[in-house]
Amino acid sequence: MQTTSLGRGGWQPGRPVSEWANAGRCGEHQGVVRRRWSSIVVAQFLLLLHNEDALSDSPISRDIAGQLVFLGTGTSHGIPMIGCGCPTCTNSNPKNQRTRCSLLLGLPQGNLLVDTPPDLRTQLLREGIGLVHAVLYTHEHADHLFGLDDLRIFAHYLGHDLPVYCDRSVEARIRTTFDYAFDPATRQYPAGGVPRLAFHPVTGEPLQLLGAEVMPIPLRHGRYHVWGYRFGNVAYCTDTNQIPPESQPLLEGLDVLVLDCLRQRPHATHFSLDEAVETAHRLAPKRTLFTHVCHDLEHEATNATLPPGMELAYDGMRIPLGIEE
Ligand SMILES: [Zn+2]
Ligand SMILES: [Zn+2]
Ligand SMILES: [Zn+2]
Repeated sequence: MQTTSLGRGGWQPGRPVSEWANAGRCGEHQGVVRRRWSSIVVAQFLLLLHNEDALSDSPISRDIAGQLVFLGTGTSHGIPMIGCGCPTCTNSNPKNQRTRCSLLLGLPQGNLLVDTPPDLRTQLLREGIGLVHAVLYTHEHADHLFGLDDLRIFAHYLGHDLPVYCDRSVEARIRTTFDYAFDPATRQYPAGGVPRLAFHPVTGEPLQLLGAEVMPIPLRHGRYHVWGYRFGNVAYCTDTNQIPPESQPLLEGLDVLVLDCLRQRPHATHFSLDEAVETAHRLAPKRTLFTHVCHDLEHEATNATLPPGMELAYDGMRIPLGIEE
């Protein structure tokens, strides 16, 4: 009789379970088939245990200390947009391939992630980033939030819940949308099974975060209130079409302003190109980088029209932060 052990003739790494289950089925005794299926269950259970054990305790991560990395610079559809054949979406220049907006900052005490877009996993892999020490949210829209599940590996690496800084409405959205992460039953899972988050409030007061002071900046995004942030002399203001007068003093004297700029035509919740350029002239940073860009704006053609000191950011772009402990 054919053996059903896992070692010989049973499931083997690299051999699909379906192939093994179907092998030699014709004309065999039913008891053999039954034992094979029970072995499949055992094999899959062992595979799960193996995977659990296989979580590394020492992640490999590129050193980005002192740098700001643009993980994503695209609008909510991402570029290329699904099904679109426009000149930007079909352009071979990688700077026209824009994933949904997020940033990574190499602060003195670790890596700070700003927002968790649906592209988060591929963004971190692309940039060689294996460890995030804290997360900061601008607002609760899906293109900035729905990659949150990929944070679950970091509680395992850190050995504690991942610190998350956000306002009450973002926290409420996270607790509703990712309710499984807060179920007492799933909280019993080992770190890595579900996201394990420790919330810290964003209220408008300066934050002490990973060895740096971070200044929240109130912004308007159509009818929504969102947060921009200032890190030293670099500010990030995505998803906005209005900087309230009381926020403007917080954006003076910047080396770099990262500013929302969706497209040429006006939009209800984002700056148009002309509005973004006018805002940059008014705030007068040394350098302005536009983000949350849609497919109306081809990278090189748009940059050729912009005033000196202004350009479109692109995925993977890095700039110095100028923050030291
Ligand atoms: Zn957005
Ligand atoms: Zn397009
Ligand atoms: Zn938004």
